Amino acid sequence: RPPNESLGFWLARHAQLTPRRVSIVYWTSAMECERWTFAELDVAARRLAGWLRANGVQRGDRVVFHDFNDVRFCITMFAAAYVGAIFVPLNFRLAVPELVQTLQDCQARVVVHGRAFEPALPALRQELPDVLTLLSDRESPGAFDAILEDAAGEEHGPADLSWDETAFLLYTSGSTGKPKGVRLSHGNLFWNTINTILIQGGMPDDRMLISAPLFHAAPVSSFLDAFLRGALIHLERSFQSERVLSRITAEKINMVAGVPAMYAMMAADPQFASADLASLRGIIVGGSPVAEALIETYRQRGVTVIQRYGLTEAAPLVTGLAPGSPRAKAATAGLPGMFLEMRIARPDAEGIGEIQARGANVMQGYWMREEDTRAAFEDDWLRTGDLGRIDAEGYLSVVGRCKDMIISGGENIYAAEVEARLAEAPGVLEAAVIGVPHVKWGETVWAMVAPKSGAQITGKQVLDHLQGRLARYKHPTRVIILDELPKNGAGKVDKLALRHRFQSEAGPAG
Ligand code: ATP
Repeated sequence: RPPNESLGFWLARHAQLTPRRVSIVYWTSAMECERWTFAELDVAARRLAGWLRANGVQRGDRVVFHDFNDVRFCITMFAAAYVGAIFVPLNFRLAVPELVQTLQDCQARVVVHGRAFEPALPALRQELPDVLTLLSDRESPGAFDAILEDAAGEEHGPADLSWDETAFLLYTSGSTGKPKGVRLSHGNLFWNTINTILIQGGMPDDRMLISAPLFHAAPVSSFLDAFLRGALIHLERSFQSERVLSRITAEKINMVAGVPAMYAMMAADPQFASADLASLRGIIVGGSPVAEALIETYRQRGVTVIQRYGLTEAAPLVTGLAPGSPRAKAATAGLPGMFLEMRIARPDAEGIGEIQARGANVMQGYWMREEDTRAAFEDDWLRTGDLGRIDAEGYLSVVGRCKDMIISGGENIYAAEVEARLAEAPGVLEAAVIGVPHVKWGETVWAMVAPKSGAQITGKQVLDHLQGRLARYKHPTRVIILDELPKNGAGKVDKLALRHRFQSEAGPAG
């Protein structure tokens, strides 16, 4: 039968066209790797898919993966697509009760897991007695590897799936509330990948390095983008700055995908100054606001920062900055994807309003949460919950999250703007601001600031830095110095935790 666009066919078709081409170099340690060709990946996916079918896994059943980045993630993802099951990659940092809650929420049928999941097994068996579990441990080969090695076992190739069948359930990181499963169809993944490729370009001989956790929408979409093009993917189990820097040099990597915090750590690494970054065509960055100083640090090393803006619900790309964009646009999040529309809803006098998007990349909805799904849309436009402004040339600047806007004395204060100025203060590594109740102003700004390692800073110094740089009404009324800011699983500052901790301290009226 002719190829179709569902995820399974991406692998099956590559295996047919270029079976011996290496697709994934999976780094199991600093120096050791496994090289997987398209044909090897296809055989592995067929065998695992055969095992799934033999164990009664049906189309639409949920197949969960829980471990660090691993080539077994990719094999499970494709095997799920081969049988038409829904792939659910989970955050390996979740605590046991959160894990069990999520597995119950999606009614998992199969859980492929590493050793780190084992503490959750007893609770899981109690809650979901029929669930199948499959150990995929790298150190001591488990049941997963035995299936791949069983040449006599059943095999199953790609199912004939329609565009609208659900491919992924991605649980959002929960930085603003309780995790929800975002349903992404095969069509969503296809169109997101096309939009991404059209913005970023790329050649089949590209070498993409991925070390960010694949269970998040942005890293997995970078994987899919490189995979569809047939580019070589270097996959790291997890992010370590010195390893990424030496890998770029040794493997002549030309694309890296990550979040701002990763690039900041790389820039702060003692190896950064001497690392050879000449092979890099660009570094892809998204997930949270990118400081201009960071863009400049990389520019000075001849590396283009390709900013992208998106969210899990959009599979995830909404906008991106194409390589070769005008220098004046370097700090923007770029232009919308080719096959999607974007608008600013109800802009204020400065043109700032909620960013909304629609197109074939936008999610099918939240898993089993009709009310949340309805609330996520305004007509057929996805409400991103982010604030932005579009300039005369159509470039988007992300101003912050709607929930992160602080209204003090009737004035709108965008947290991201205050945070950017605070982060520029001498000795400051990172900063976050929240609104706390205030008897006179309704809300007032409090700042939490973490110093660079070895730096001594005081709240007064930080506030002095804002003089003349930021309107007075936006200045924090309190600066709290913390050793480090709490982060969620995605490496983003956990504002929910900060709010919990400090809003109660402020009391109902500041
Ligand atoms: P949850 O949806 O559970 O609150 P989350 O918002 O962190 O978690 P993600 O889908 O991982 O979920 O992240 C998307 C969000 O990240 C966007 O809504 C936006 O707030 C932020 N973001 C992404 N890219 C950028 C960018 N380039 N600049 C600023 N913010 C960004």
